[in-house]
Amino acid sequence: MTSSNTGAPVAPTDAAGEPRAAAAATATPDRAKRVLLAAPRGYCAGVDRAVVAVEKALEHYGAPVYVRKEIVHNKFVVETLAARGAVFVDDTDEVPEGARVVFSAHGVSPAVHAAAAARSLQTIDATCPLVTKVHKEAVRFAADDFDILLIGHDGHEEVEGTQGEAPDHIQVVNSPDAVEHIEVRDPERVVWISQTTLSVDETMETVRRLRQKFPHLQDPPSDDICYATQNRQVAVKKLAPECDVVITVGSANSSNSVRLVEVALEAGARSSYRIDTAQEIDPAWLVGATTVGVTSGASVPEILVRDVLDALAGHGFGQVEEVRTATEDLMFSLPRELRADLKAAGNPATTPRREGRRSLDVQPA
Ligand code: SF4
Repeated sequence: MTSSNTGAPVAPTDAAGEPRAAAAATATPDRAKRVLLAAPRGYCAGVDRAVVAVEKALEHYGAPVYVRKEIVHNKFVVETLAARGAVFVDDTDEVPEGARVVFSAHGVSPAVHAAAAARSLQTIDATCPLVTKVHKEAVRFAADDFDILLIGHDGHEEVEGTQGEAPDHIQVVNSPDAVEHIEVRDPERVVWISQTTLSVDETMETVRRLRQKFPHLQDPPSDDICYATQNRQVAVKKLAPECDVVITVGSANSSNSVRLVEVALEAGARSSYRIDTAQEIDPAWLVGATTVGVTSGASVPEILVRDVLDALAGHGFGQVEEVRTATEDLMFSLPRELRADLKAAGNPATTPRREGRRSLDVQPA
């Protein structure tokens, strides 16, 4: 991650990276109106890997490929993969005995691995390595008999997976206000860990209150809120004070997308909305606005952002300036089970972007 400056004008482009002539033709850009486009935005390394894992599994094994839960929390991604033959299920008992199932980027508990093994399922574990890191922390602190305070949202799949690593040692702390109800066995052996996709500021407030209550509280060995979540929040914070409206592209069940909506407001945006697709833009949001911020959650393919820029150009917001606060080049290898099968078949793909593109960057056929 490196920092760079803000305000570089960029021309809107189409899926092939060419200037979007069609958008320019639909409306004359109003020089007073502009879009500030956050960077980084959209796909993170963990999401890209998980989506490519399903794409590669479909190509290599053929449909159907079962996927436990949404592979990532994005409606467009899930619908696109479903159209290609992925079958999304809520749990492993819906997968036929012996069939192949992909575990989502959010991770699963040991109980889910055991249930899959009991049905002789062939698993491909697309858990993001940064979620796996948190699982390992939980296992290690539980082995040392710590009380583990997991800051995160009850019921979120990632939290369920992490909690399942050590259910007798982990309590979930939902918010700063929840701290007053937390009790531990030994206040001198307490550690906090967190979900990867939280608001950095709110999490630090929760930690501050926990430390007031438990002065011996230990920190995790490194940040649990991942680089992608942090970078997207930093970028939206930078542009938000200049914006009449900030539009975040992302699904309602995407934790990091919902956090971006909140962070934009807290950072000074006059209003802040989340949409799944460009069709959800309400023209009333743009009345009287001169600056619109645009960002997208870590599970959002860039094609959806391009659609939003096209739609905004149609409302006179044709001038787009990128606000970049970091550059990301992290990528993860494909899940090892899949890599092994691809290698045995003579397919060299080991990382998502070896082929020079991100998953789902092209429209489904
Ligand atoms: S948001 Fe972070 S933890 Fe979640 S998949 Fe992306 S990189 Fe991994």
